[in-house]
Amino acid sequence: MLRRMTIVSAFAAVVLGPSAYGAEQTGTLPPQVQAAAESGPAATDVRVGGDDKMTRFVVDLTQKIDVTAFALADPYRVVVDLPQIAFRLPPKAADQARGLVKAFRYGVIMQGGSRIVIDTKGPVRVDKAFVLDAAGDQPARLVVDLSVTDRDSFLRAASLETRAPRSPPVKPGEIASKPAGDPRPLIVLDPGHGGIDNGAKAASGELEKDVVLQFAQTLRARLEATGKYQIAMTRSDDTFIALAERVRFARAHSAALFVSIHADAIPKSEGQAEGATVYTLSENASDAEAARLAEAEHKADVSAGVELTAEPGDVANILVDLAQRETKTYSGQFARTLVGELKNTARLHKNPMKAAGFKVLTAPDVPSVLVELGYMSTKDDLKLLTSTAWQAKTATALAQAVDTYFAPRLARGAVGANR
Ligand SMILES: [Zn+2]
Repeated sequence: MLRRMTIVSAFAAVVLGPSAYGAEQTGTLPPQVQAAAESGPAATDVRVGGDDKMTRFVVDLTQKIDVTAFALADPYRVVVDLPQIAFRLPPKAADQARGLVKAFRYGVIMQGGSRIVIDTKGPVRVDKAFVLDAAGDQPARLVVDLSVTDRDSFLRAASLETRAPRSPPVKPGEIASKPAGDPRPLIVLDPGHGGIDNGAKAASGELEKDVVLQFAQTLRARLEATGKYQIAMTRSDDTFIALAERVRFARAHSAALFVSIHADAIPKSEGQAEGATVYTLSENASDAEAARLAEAEHKADVSAGVELTAEPGDVANILVDLAQRETKTYSGQFARTLVGELKNTARLHKNPMKAAGFKVLTAPDVPSVLVELGYMSTKDDLKLLTSTAWQAKTATALAQAVDTYFAPRLARGAVGANR
């Protein structure tokens, strides 16, 4: 089972090294990609028409592009892969639900590639997916025709479909191995979400993916300034990365510590919550809220159209292996240290240390924690989360926790290793 952890997930994104782009690039695409997006093809409107038997999904384009489309089950989705395009849709465009289409989202899935993911009401067949040339006063149009089908036909069609690589595989060279001779421990910072996957959204529009990237950049600068650590980031721009790919990245770097950074949100019906929480991996969630959160974080892959059958095995199996290692102990040690540091600087949740079955924490040989910095859905938290001063203060506390955790290890000369 664990061997499979190293398999790149079906839609592995290209992972950028720590210094691929400047730290000032927060929450935006790198300049060359941005420039290409402005002059390159763009989607300008979306229309959904039809009924519960047949539905047509149309996207107006500024120029003709190549597309491929395929359906995924559990939950039922249709994925349309495109070259990287800009989405300049009217604000209401994404609210259309009609016929077989329940909802859809769009965005960058990897460098050079965009994706539209359509949630459907049930099993559908993709009858056609093509792009029409501009004609007369009509712009070029992407057309996806869907018709209703049953689950068995759906699954049969999906298994017959040629399994050609749907995105370029990550080339081994793209993950720089640890520079030989640098004895400093390597820490992987993992800003959650990215690209097509926005993560949690504040009522006022701020997105988790932007907040956590900005925070991770600040934290990286803090840690690098100590000179004691090598830092790598799973993403340093607005790119989607599958959960399994983040785990693979940490393992490929032989990371001594993995810190995944998020900002939670809870539905209004569940009341108010505030403050930061530190999570470690456990098969049994420490409470209902932790279970809900792990579930919500796993929707990252679903919303990006990642095929979940290609994902590694369940947490229980991973934990059996983990129990034979000291990784779990070290993750717990770091989590406790971190809560201790955050107590003095950040607002903490009333139960600040929790555990749940987070996929992103399943590297069996890398001590891993997930930090929810606060709640995007809570006004006061959001104010802090988006404030440069709070980010700086909290990054300093996190860096202090890293120092406390590594101090005895560095003193023993056991650096670079997990202990
Ligand atoms: Zn998140």
